[in-house]
Amino acid sequence: MPLVQCPDCQAQISDAAPTCPKCGRPMVAPKSVGSAMQPTALQSQPDVVRSIGTFFIGGGCLLFIVLAVIGTVMKNC
Ligand SMILES: [Zn+2]
Repeated sequence: MPLVQCPDCQAQISDAAPTCPKCGRPMVAPKSVGSAMQPTALQSQPDVVRSIGTFFIGGGCLLFIVLAVIGTVMKNC
């Protein structure tokens, strides 16, 4: 387990430590954990937004077609 030096207090702390145990400064090393957590949280949302958007766009097109057909039928009557 490699030791890194805290930029704030110059303490030798563990590379796996999320924060400096001496001054509490967040370490840069665990950013892989944060970047691994954020994309998963962000990826789950766009999928939902995309599906909802596709649903509304498809529903809007269907509604438009139905209204156009009804309008044509009403004019013919
Ligand atoms: Zn420190």
